[in-house]
Amino acid sequence: MVIVIGSGAGGATVARELALKGAEVTLLERGPRPSDGHASRYYANVDAGVKILRTLCLGGTTLVSTGNAMRCLEEELRSLGIDLTREFAEAERDLGVRILPDSLYGPATRRLMEAAATMGTPMKKMPKFIDHGRCRLDGQCAFGCPTNARWSALWFVEEAEEHGCRTCCGTPAEEILVSSGQVRGVRSGSRHILDDEVVLAAGALETPRLLQGIDIPTAPLFIDTFVTIGGFCPAAGLHTEIPMNAYLHHDGTLVMPHYSRQLVDLLVERGWPATASDVLSMMVKIRDDDAGEVGDTISKAVTPRDAGTLSAGAAHAGAILVEAGADPRSLVAASLRGTHPGGTARIGVAVDTYLQTPVEGLYVADASVLPGAPGGPPILTIVALGKYVARRILE
Ligand SMILES: Cc1cc2nc3c(=O)[nH]c(=O)nc-3n(C[C@H](O)[C@H](O)[C@H](O)COP(=O)(O)OP(=O)(O)OC[C@H]3O[C@@H](n4cnc5c(N)ncnc54)[C@H](O)[C@@H]3O)c2cc1C
Repeated sequence: MVIVIGSGAGGATVARELALKGAEVTLLERGPRPSDGHASRYYANVDAGVKILRTLCLGGTTLVSTGNAMRCLEEELRSLGIDLTREFAEAERDLGVRILPDSLYGPATRRLMEAAATMGTPMKKMPKFIDHGRCRLDGQCAFGCPTNARWSALWFVEEAEEHGCRTCCGTPAEEILVSSGQVRGVRSGSRHILDDEVVLAAGALETPRLLQGIDIPTAPLFIDTFVTIGGFCPAAGLHTEIPMNAYLHHDGTLVMPHYSRQLVDLLVERGWPATASDVLSMMVKIRDDDAGEVGDTISKAVTPRDAGTLSAGAAHAGAILVEAGADPRSLVAASLRGTHPGGTARIGVAVDTYLQTPVEGLYVADASVLPGAPGGPPILTIVALGKYVARRILE
């Protein structure tokens, strides 16, 4: 039997891979099983100086993802001796990664793509794990897809369950049980669940806390800090389009069409008669410095380098927005946020290149192990790493 802690991108993958191969799996999940498409109620964001977004429920933060799929950190991992060629190919197949048809590119996204091309920095179409046949074009990805068109780790959990995986929701792992250098199981409340193989995948904000409890060294936090800037553009309609359906890289930033409700309030405060449909906006995301800490509290600083990179990206995004029709006097920026916490149990610090900790039988398989800030969507990489860990355990 193998115990998997956490059912997000990493944990669900490990549970599925092991169950498909006939292993006995117990999946411990702190949150509930979502009952419908409204995953936004499971947001458990952390105000760490910069706001860090995540959801705590079965399926983890994948339930609010916008379906972006990039092979992040592939070269960095290869240079550490982890070749994920096979796992990435499998992950892309399992998640159904594809470029969406032109019919799913809305007018606002097209407008931004044309403006970026005019400025000499053309955008590419974003590979997505969205089933275009089921997408209703409602812009709701980050609140939980109402039509289940976007892959989430729940799909893997359900597949694992069909192959015998036992899922325990509302069961937070509170302590990893270890004796004589070997993992023995997990404590949740007064319950001891015993096994000599445990995969920790509680996400980069919780995994390090469990490791700290057994004196395994942890590492600083990165989150891919981002800012969304936007301006007044009557009837632009970006809010109902698929977010981030195109992207460009500029001066160390990733720039993508992205609507944020915060911008409506900011525009109204400044006297613009804006409703949701009147905002044209873009996200500027950076591979930030790992200036964060997870312990009893969680903090994340913005370094001068981060601030400089964000400003340069925001200036370029602002120019694209104006070229695309946003009123240049109206540009506003939402607060800094991060959606890719990682690195807190990274390879070389908490785990070896098999993603095993110094405790025999205790593995980590979530964003915590990433060797550096991905600077882009990490789910594909985390899924590939989950497959890699499962393969090691089965061997
Ligand atoms: C709004 C938003 C949009 C995003 N869009 C994308 C995107 O388009 N593409 C992309 O690649 N990435 C995206 N991301 C990031 C992506 O969702 C995360 O990087 C990824 O889900 C992290 O995987 P994980 O396994 O490390 O953690 P999670 O998916 O967060 O899973 C951790 C799991 O552990 C559970 N847990 C926590 N503590 C315990 C405990 N003590 N015991 C038991 N269970 C526990 C949690 O409830 C959760 O189920 C987005 C994130 C957000 C917030």
